This record gives sequence, C-alpha cells and structure tokens, in this order.
Amino acid sequence: MIQKKIDHVGIAVTSIKDALPYYKDVLGLEYTGTEEVAEQRVRVAFLKIGESRFELLEPTSPDSPIAKFLETRGSGIHHIGVKVSDIQTSLSDHKKAGSKLIDNEPRVGAHKMKIAFVHPKSTSGVLLELCQES
Ligand code: ZN
Repeated sequence: MIQKKIDHVGIAVTSIKDALPYYKDVLGLEYTGTEEVAEQRVRVAFLKIGESRFELLEPTSPDSPIAKFLETRGSGIHHIGVKVSDIQTSLSDHKKAGSKLIDNEPRVGAHKMKIAFVHPKSTSGVLLELCQES
C-alpha cells in the first residue's frame, strides 16, 4: 500500500501560548488555528509546513495522554502522522504483519480525520499515527 506523505508531526508542549511564537514568528510558519480534541483531552495548534503540519499538543486535563508524556519525557516530538489512502486496509496489513496496535479500529482525531496509532514497539521507537481524510 502506498503511503502518500507525512501528514503531520505532533509535538507535546506544556503551553501552546508559550510554544507558538517560535514556530510562527521565528520559523515563520503559517498558523491555521487551534482545535480541541475532547476525546484525547488535548488542544491542538496547527502550523502549515509545505504539504504537512506541525501540531502543537497541549493537555487539557491531568489525565490526558499528553500530560503523562510531558511528565515522563518533557516537551518534544510525540508522534508522526502518516497519511494513508485507506486506513482499514492499512490496519489489516499491520495486523497481518503482527504489528502492535494501540487502536484496532480507526477513531476520529483532529480535523475529523480517521486515525489509528501504532505502538512504538513495532516501529523502532516512534509512535506512529495512521490517518485518512474522511
Ligand atoms: Zn496526530
């Protein structure tokens, strides 16, 4: 299956307000808005970089997965989003290969995309998010 491109890089931050000026003003990226993903207890700021995005991920609750990540690892790259044309096919390919999945079925992420996470144990240490536009 052809994976089209890197959709986004998710960066865990303690505060979007503090992190945004660097990406916007120093790096000069276009800020296209912030969205709250209630299910993940996270607020996401989008910055366009070419055909891809940086996503600054700020926890909205202490039990957010991002809050836990920040506690143990600090700010930094949290995951890489890979755009796939058909997430169901991609998930069944992963299952056939015996990959460790965090999501066995797609769920809805930011931008209303269908997403599913693959465990770092199967990707040489990178939390990978498969995403498909819905
Ligand atoms: Zn993501």
